[in-house]
Amino acid sequence: MDKIQLKALAKINLGLDVLRRREDGYHEVKMIMQTIGLHDDLEIRKTKTPGIQVKTNLYYLPTNENNLVYKAAKLLMDEFQIQDGVSIQLKKRIPVAAGMAGGSSDGAAVLWGINQMYGLGLSMQALMERGVRLGADVPYCIQRGTALAEGIGEKLSVLPPMPKCTILIAKPGISVSTKFVYENLHANDLKPEQHPDVDSMIEAMRQKDLGLLCSRMGNVLETVTIPAYPVINEIKRTMMDNGAIGSMMSGSGPTVFGIFDSPAAAKQAVKAVRAAKLAKQICLTTPYNVKR
Ligand code: ATP
Repeated sequence: MDKIQLKALAKINLGLDVLRRREDGYHEVKMIMQTIGLHDDLEIRKTKTPGIQVKTNLYYLPTNENNLVYKAAKLLMDEFQIQDGVSIQLKKRIPVAAGMAGGSSDGAAVLWGINQMYGLGLSMQALMERGVRLGADVPYCIQRGTALAEGIGEKLSVLPPMPKCTILIAKPGISVSTKFVYENLHANDLKPEQHPDVDSMIEAMRQKDLGLLCSRMGNVLETVTIPAYPVINEIKRTMMDNGAIGSMMSGSGPTVFGIFDSPAAAKQAVKAVRAAKLAKQICLTTPYNVKR
């Protein structure tokens, strides 16, 4: 196999709680992760010239060892002493620095792709063990589907799939640093009512009840981002006023998603978000569920 084409899928957090800040500075989280159809496209090709070459459609992304696709390729190529070169073409669609694990998913796809191309024979578990060295979300991006993520995000349990729905993604034209959000969270001082009830969301998923699930969604990081960036709340309100069953910020933001029970309802909300000029990137997608 001389080349392989891959899709790196984005995620949203249906629930995100931070339990505490550990002494080493890491935060202990409890998150419900959901893969969605929105994806980046990747192509990996073997080349005669040794080394890793990265090309991307976004001029501002690094193409050196700071890109997660580079890091992922290097990790496996070093371990398995692969002497060829590879060229990786990355077409980004997932909003960047947006709380959608775009970079982690690209890295996960490259681990998967190199494993296939070179017949390394690594199991999904073995890939996930290597993936965590690239980032806490990478193992989840390899596993995909609906999952509970605990620890620093790397301890995964499979959950029942998300009920059928349409998801509207809207990213405002602002950048929110993940570091800023966590530094301003003061996780250990949060009041009990500020924590979302992730367990009751899991129960709603077991019951396959989309309405109940949406009514219980919560993201503790909104306590930091919404006061700092009111546009996040404006997008949520616009979605809710235009037929969303639920709407929330994903990850550390600033992307907001809305859940709709029909594509027609979601299209109506797209018009409203566009008309209000609240978002730079807007798209409609659906949950991506893995058959297990
Ligand atoms: P998360 O949801 O895991 O917090 P994110 O959506 O906040 O992820 P990414 O889009 O993954 O953030 O990227 C954050 C930063 O990482 C970017 O500003 C970029 O410089 C760098 N980066 C490295 N590799 C990639 C990649 N393949 N795609 C996007 N960003 C990348």
